[in-house]
Amino acid sequence: MIATNRRRFLSLGLGGFLLPLVGCGTPRSVLEERSYVFGTLVDVVAVPTEPAQGAAAMRSVGTGFARMHRDWHAWKPGALATLNAALARGESIATNPSIVDLIRGSTLIHRNSRGLFNPAIGALVGLWGFHDDEMPVGALPAPAQVEALRRQQPTMDDLVLDGVKVASRNRSVQLDFGGYAKGVALDWALDTLEGFGCRDAIVNLGGNLAAMGRRGDRRWRIGIRHPQGEGVVAAVDVEGREAVVTSGSYERYREQEGIRYPHVIDPRTGQPARAVASTTVIHRDAGLADAAATALVVAGPHHWVDVAAAMGITQAMLIDGDGAIQLTPAMHQRLRFAAPEPASITVVSAT
Ligand code: ADP
Ligand code: MG
Repeated sequence: MIATNRRRFLSLGLGGFLLPLVGCGTPRSVLEERSYVFGTLVDVVAVPTEPAQGAAAMRSVGTGFARMHRDWHAWKPGALATLNAALARGESIATNPSIVDLIRGSTLIHRNSRGLFNPAIGALVGLWGFHDDEMPVGALPAPAQVEALRRQQPTMDDLVLDGVKVASRNRSVQLDFGGYAKGVALDWALDTLEGFGCRDAIVNLGGNLAAMGRRGDRRWRIGIRHPQGEGVVAAVDVEGREAVVTSGSYERYREQEGIRYPHVIDPRTGQPARAVASTTVIHRDAGLADAAATALVVAGPHHWVDVAAAMGITQAMLIDGDGAIQLTPAMHQRLRFAAPEPASITVVSAT
């Protein structure tokens, strides 16, 4: 099963060309496009009802992704960097409406996550060295500096919105939507494709996927990458429209004396969340799934299931540093584990 899954998984992104699709009904064409945005590989596969519409849809998605990448970048010059600079000066500023939407959406999610998903901690993320395209090297940040930022407790509730004007009651707020933006972009991409008449599509933003409809007479099958090894740990067949989002410590991290410091930071301690290898969330709302996957990494192996419930997530899985798997009953029903089955799988319910 692993081989089949991997083949299908990898078969996304063969470049921009048309493949004849033989399914039920009239054969149609599949459009595939691969690009590099959000610091990651992006694959869009769509089955347009009208080939001409399909090309326009793919162009529109590509342009939109590039715009979001520019406007929402946490450390390169752009609308978000301009906003962050103003907040640090204690000034209010009119920002891009799409950033206002990100603030509104993530403020609610931040509360439901009990503060574990917190896009206001951009300064901490930067201090740990993750505001860089390259893997950070060298000395870890000074504990006193980490503590100084942690103590200021920036949260989304410090922000004051007035139309597109944003101010902060706390100057330490620095917005970083790295744990959320890819999910929001996935939702937007599917909406856009749908608007162009594509009912069947799948989008992959660096291992975070959202899909709708089917691929011919089959469902879209998504493989969940194994955080500690090669290949996929499990596969899921998409039902209707949904996102399968994974947050892991295996892709972006720094290392010091054999210890890994991943890019997800616990706002309560200011330290990287180290107890989790990966979390996966399935939800119709890809933005929520993305934020929740990040929050569950912070929550850790003992509290994740309650945080998931508080966030309205029923389908979630966590793999800890030893490779032990925990998952919710609803997730257990959805997943098919690759052979040989992982040694430790525990189904857990919220208390
Ligand atoms: P990926 O980007 O690999 O899919 P995530 O969705 O978990 O992984 O996002 C991690 C990013 O989220 C970090 O690089 C940082 O920009 C941001 N981040 C780190 N810690 C938090 C946190 N506690 N809450 C919200 N965002 C965070
Ligand atoms: Mg995330």
